[in-house]
Amino acid sequence: MTARPVFANLPDRAFDLIVIGAGINGAGIARDAAARGLRVLLVDKGDIGGGTTSWSTRLIHGGLRYLEHGEIGLVRESLRERERLLRIVPHLVRPLPLLIPIYTGDQRGPWLIRAGMLAYDLLSYDKSLARHEMLSRAESLARLPGLNPDGLRGAALYYDAQVEFPERLAVENALAASAAGATLLTYARVERIVVEAGRARGVELVDLLQAGAGPVVVRAPVIINVAGPWVDEVLAGVPGREPAPLLGGTKGSHLVVGGFAGAPDQALYAAAREDGRPFFIIPWNDQYLIGTTDVWFHGDLDCLVASEAEIDYLLAETNRVIPGAGLSRAAIHYTYAGVRPLPFVPAGRAGAITRRHLLHDHGRDGVTGLFSVVGGKLTTYRELAVHAVDRAQRALGLPLTPSTTERTPLPGTPGADGDFALFRRRFVAESGVPERSAGHLADTYGVRANDVLALATTDDLRRSFDDASGAIGAEVLFAFAHEAAQTLTDVLMRRTMVGLGPELGIGADQVAADIAARHLGWERGRCIQEVDAYRAYVERFRLRHHVASWYKRPTAADSDQQ
Ligand SMILES: Cc1cc2nc3c(=O)[nH]c(=O)nc-3n(C[C@H](O)[C@H](O)[C@H](O)COP(=O)(O)OP(=O)(O)OC[C@H]3O[C@@H](n4cnc5c(N)ncnc54)[C@H](O)[C@@H]3O)c2cc1C
Repeated sequence: MTARPVFANLPDRAFDLIVIGAGINGAGIARDAAARGLRVLLVDKGDIGGGTTSWSTRLIHGGLRYLEHGEIGLVRESLRERERLLRIVPHLVRPLPLLIPIYTGDQRGPWLIRAGMLAYDLLSYDKSLARHEMLSRAESLARLPGLNPDGLRGAALYYDAQVEFPERLAVENALAASAAGATLLTYARVERIVVEAGRARGVELVDLLQAGAGPVVVRAPVIINVAGPWVDEVLAGVPGREPAPLLGGTKGSHLVVGGFAGAPDQALYAAAREDGRPFFIIPWNDQYLIGTTDVWFHGDLDCLVASEAEIDYLLAETNRVIPGAGLSRAAIHYTYAGVRPLPFVPAGRAGAITRRHLLHDHGRDGVTGLFSVVGGKLTTYRELAVHAVDRAQRALGLPLTPSTTERTPLPGTPGADGDFALFRRRFVAESGVPERSAGHLADTYGVRANDVLALATTDDLRRSFDDASGAIGAEVLFAFAHEAAQTLTDVLMRRTMVGLGPELGIGADQVAADIAARHLGWERGRCIQEVDAYRAYVERFRLRHHVASWYKRPTAADSDQQ
């Protein structure tokens, strides 16, 4: 069971390390630190993985593009991590073939692409994935008949990896941290970092689930601020920080669309005509993910939306490279946007800022015991965590102990180096639930799919409550009992992944609330409030002109009818 700790008791608890932010990096740090024996508090103002981690392109990649900026070390590190993640989380990270079409007049011609491909292969000499192939024009069109043939010279085919749901990767890391003894506290905001006599001593926390509960101060000798794009916000008031920011984020937006004429079977990585910037069209979650953009961002980090200009750009570039697609706004299921937590640079091209992470030691600014994580990618979260925990151990005056995360499986992994494909085949054949649901359970929870099934003791818990994903009722109970979910939004957006289907989980949200009413004792008022909060949350992903037509506040009568 993953019960929420009693908020008011936290000041009496002894911690070695407070990790602020339960995105992929914070969850990874907490897991590594707890496994090395530190007493850890992992705290987030929202849910696990609800920040930037949810709003990425979802690739586990070396970053072919970073080669152009001479970031050889970063590419090598990322490729090594890609290989590790394919091995240690095979249920969440899978190989992904990508095609790069090359056109007459492109900034990057065949020789440059070929050189990049050779370097990429060389830097991943120890990989399990296939090496690249250069394709002729005819071979390219045979592979992807929908490609724009005008000026097409050929293509490069290569392999990277995809984490369909980085939200789940963050959740599994947080659960592993909790299993190793870390305290996990979501919906608690750090109001300020407590600094006394030049040392960080703790954090002041506000409980966002209990209105009116006063703030508490929780103490620890080391604090790691890994709040993604919110890093500077969290540092407000810390001596030595003003006015220079650590971060200068850029916004990236994505469109999610259904199948379309000429849609690729593999991912497409094409250069945009407008600005030469590469963008992706990726088969994802039975839909297509199209993105991304890279624009300076200075607004409110808590309500990010794709702008009209970004939507126009991504639609136009997709229709250019796949002319039969004919995509318009009507084809868009939803959009999403995130801000990359990149290091602050005073000016320059957004795409050229390093994607390497830095661990800022505030000892430099006169505050010891405090570190902030700047930058980082999903791909390198595990290695970032190793570095951060090494630094924490040093700051605590402890002997350095080796990280175990390279070898230790995450909760859903089928044993060390286990065969996930074999597990999946057997599970689908033997689970007794329809194939669609069984596949969804295996791909979402790995071997813990068996634990979900163990809760499916009644018909409604074995039944799917969402046609698009095949998710079953028992998952709602599992999320609250075993995966630290606090709200219906957590369940739909970051546990069952129902919220990322074509309808954004609208409709399924009411059925899920009804399951919680029947099996968890939710009263009608709570069901209404949870569904309301969920619909308010997903509103930002809908195109503006859709909002009025889809949103209907559920009523008590709706609940009665279920
Ligand atoms: C458009 C885009 C595309 C990307 N594509 C890729 C990709 O394909 N591959 C890849 O490897 N990387 C990609 N990235 C980068 C990657 O997604 C991020 O670097 C990574 O997710 C950052 O994780 P994080 O844990 O550091 O931050 P976040 O996930 O943002 O987590 C920070 C957490 O801190 C919490 N927090 C904030 N303030 C407070 C407070 N006051 N108190 C308590 N908690 C707080 C937030 O709620 C949040 O959950 C992409 C990023 C973007 C924006």
